Amino acid sequence: MRVLITGGAGFLGSHLCDRFLAEGHEVIAMDNLITGSTANIEHLAGRDRFLFIKHDVTNFIYSEGPVDAVLHFASPASPIDYLELPIQTLKVGALGTHKALGLAKEKNARFLLASTSEVYGDPLIHPQTEDYWGNVNPVGPRGVYDEAKRFAEAMTMAYRRHHGVNTRIIRIFNTYGPRMRLADGRVVPNFIAQALRGEPLTVFGDGKQTRSFCYVSDLVEGIYRLLLSDEQDPTNIGNPREMTILAFAEKIKALTGSKSPITFVQPKDMRITDDPKVRQPDISKARRVLGWEPKVSIDDGLKRTIEHFRSRV
Ligand code: NAD
Ligand code: UDP
Repeated sequence: MRVLITGGAGFLGSHLCDRFLAEGHEVIAMDNLITGSTANIEHLAGRDRFLFIKHDVTNFIYSEGPVDAVLHFASPASPIDYLELPIQTLKVGALGTHKALGLAKEKNARFLLASTSEVYGDPLIHPQTEDYWGNVNPVGPRGVYDEAKRFAEAMTMAYRRHHGVNTRIIRIFNTYGPRMRLADGRVVPNFIAQALRGEPLTVFGDGKQTRSFCYVSDLVEGIYRLLLSDEQDPTNIGNPREMTILAFAEKIKALTGSKSPITFVQPKDMRITDDPKVRQPDISKARRVLGWEPKVSIDDGLKRTIEHFRSRV
C-alpha cells in the first residue's frame, strides 16, 4: 500500500510511519509541525519508501500518484496544546478532516480517522461502549477538541454514506510511550519529568479521577488491524486497566525510585474544567472483531517510557 499519514511527525503518527514501513508499505507523512517534530521521523530520512511533506492539512491536500490509505492523525492532542491552540484544533478537526476525506475520495483510498475517548466527554456510562453518545460541554474549553472530533466522526460517516468512501473510525483512549513531548502537559510526561527531576508530582484536583493507559505499540497494532478489517463503525482501542491519577502518581514514583513528594494543585487556568471524572474503554468489540487486546503491562510500558525520558530531562 501507499499510505498517507496526516500528523505523521507527531507522537502516534511517527510510530505509525515506523509500523507501515516495517510491513513493507510506502509512507507519506504530512505535518505542519505545530505540535510535532521532525526529530520523531529523522531516523526515516533518506529511506526509499518514505516521504515527508510539510503541509497544513486544513488547506487543500495535493498528492501525486496513487494513495491506498489515508490515516488522519493531525490534531493537537494534549489538553494544554488544544487549550492554547483552540482555533487550529477546531480547524484541523473540521477542515482538515474534510480535506483528508476529499483526498481519500479522489484516490479511492481507505480512510481512517483518529478519534478519541473525549467524544464521550465526562461520561455517565462506565466503562464506555461505542454506542454511548457522550456527555460533552460544547462551550467549555475542552469543547474545541471534543466537538472537532465529533464533527470529524460525523463528516467521516457522511463521506461513507454519501460518497461511498471506505472509512474506519478509531476512538483512542489515553496512549503513552517514547516520543511524547516532555513538556506536552499530559499526565504521563508531566509526572515522569517531575519524578526524574525530583520535583513535586502535581496531581490536579483530588486525584480520584481515573484514566486507563495504553502503551503505544498496542495501540499501533489495533490501528493496523482496524485499517485492514471491514469494520466501519467506531471502535474503541485502549487498555482497560483503570487507575486513579493519585495511584498513577504513586506508580511513577515507585518505578523511577524518585523521592519527589506528591502535591495536590488546583490549576487556575482552564486545564481541569470539565476534566472527565472517569475513563475506561470497553474493548469487547475490538476483541471480537479484530481479535485485538493490549499485551504490554503498565509497568513494562512505563519502564520503557521512563528510559526514553531519562536522557532528555
Ligand atoms: P501529537 O501532538 O504528537 O501529534 C499531532 C500531530 O499533528 C503533530 O505532529 C502536529 O504537528 C500535527 N498537526 C496538527 N495540526 C496540523 C495541521 N493543521 N496540518 C498538519 N499537521 C498538523 O499528538 P498525538 O498524541 O500523536 O495524537 C495524534 C492523533 O491521535 C490526534 O488526532 C489525537 O487527537 C489522536 N488521539 C491521541 C490520543 C493519545 O493518547 N495520544 C488519544 C486520543 C486521540
Ligand atoms: N493531570 C494531573 N497532573 C498533571 C497533568 C494531568 O493530575 O500534571 C490529570 C488531569 O487532570 C487528568 C489526567 O491527569 O485528570 C489525565 O490528563 P492528560 O492531560 O494526560 O489527558 P486527558 O486524559 O485529560 O485528555
